Amino acid sequence: MVEAVRTVVVRSVPLPRRAFRIFVELEGMYRNIVEQLVLYAVNNGITKFTRLKAEKYRELRSLYPQLPSHYIYTACQDAAERAHSFLRLKKMGRARKAYPEVRSVSIWLDDHLWRAEGLTSISMATHRGRVNVSIELNKHFLRYVNRGWRLASEARVKLDHRERRLVFYLTFKKEVSEYRPKVYVTVDVNEDVEAVLIDGIVYLLETNLSRITLGYYYRRKRVQERYDKVYGPGSRPARRIFKRLSNNERLLKKEIRWKLATLIVRQAARRQAAIVLERLGREPANHMVEHIKDPQLRHRVFQAAFKGIQRAIEEKAREYGVPVIYVDPRNTSKVCPIHGAEIVYGKDRHGVCSRGGETWHRDVAACYNLLLRALGGDGGAAPSRQRALIPVDGGPVPLGPTAAHEPTPIARGAWARWRSLGATSKHKQMRMSV
Ligand SMILES: [Zn+2]
Repeated sequence: MVEAVRTVVVRSVPLPRRAFRIFVELEGMYRNIVEQLVLYAVNNGITKFTRLKAEKYRELRSLYPQLPSHYIYTACQDAAERAHSFLRLKKMGRARKAYPEVRSVSIWLDDHLWRAEGLTSISMATHRGRVNVSIELNKHFLRYVNRGWRLASEARVKLDHRERRLVFYLTFKKEVSEYRPKVYVTVDVNEDVEAVLIDGIVYLLETNLSRITLGYYYRRKRVQERYDKVYGPGSRPARRIFKRLSNNERLLKKEIRWKLATLIVRQAARRQAAIVLERLGREPANHMVEHIKDPQLRHRVFQAAFKGIQRAIEEKAREYGVPVIYVDPRNTSKVCPIHGAEIVYGKDRHGVCSRGGETWHRDVAACYNLLLRALGGDGGAAPSRQRALIPVDGGPVPLGPTAAHEPTPIARGAWARWRSLGATSKHKQMRMSV
């Protein structure tokens, strides 16, 4: 059994001034608590919730006796997570400040602090007793309710000060049983394109994720230069534009990742296939993005184009009960899947096998090598038994030395509209079951 988890946003109706003020006070107290806790945690190198709670709970409880005690618990969890990610960034030399700033606050809730009253209102514990707020139903929320997802007790709430609303981030969970895979779908993640091997065909699905990241980066830089000249550094109009650009960038990337993940996972589920991914390291000091010199930018491209895609596929796969397998990504594009010899690349993504002399597209070689490693089961080099089963006597089958080994490139505008990969029927005759 695996567990799929999704966050769904639900907004309250606009609240009367007096009711909203209670939540503003609550937010203020919560923020103070988190700020104190983060400072303490960072100073003492604490990243564990249990230790932070053990050392600070009593003190904070006596400072805020009117507050329901579980807010101290959730603030400890919140702060421990912030301290943890800050200390990790600091260790990698990517923290910009000496202490983490607690800028935006969302109040963490547990089962004592909130409960759903039917589908239309939420009751929250506050320092002024329980307060009921009506929520606006939306399609997204109802879809999860109707499809057998379970509403979990952990939630977060943010204040929309301008509209005097509460914005709830609710967590839905669902248990799904994974099937035993019959075949494999392999995914080779690249900066701007995903190569997917399904039924013996390699599709190149264009994502442009690194191009989008770089594009927004340079746009922000240009805005900054222009506005700094006129208004001085860090001006309000510049910040407003930054915020809008970042938001657009985030939404666009998210949409691309989810659509792509859905497309791949549905194909895998239909074939009862396992998805094979490269095992990625934690650090982007990786050959995949080493041409990007700026470490922060490199980190962002890596997160969006490699980690982000993988995470979306993993999430979607859990929902459909699709098993995911990780294999060693080393040299997957450098070695010929048939002969095990080196592929010599020219300037573009095409190379020639140094033993058989056949031509390979880099991403096709990578996809087949991932498949061989998954079949080998050890994540290491492809076993010779498997290599022997692949026809090497020519003929128009994938992996035959006379086959074209050409992938099918698909632009983002095209695949984003699809519900399945069946749209490329001209390649049907090349299908082979693996
Ligand atoms: Zn070869």
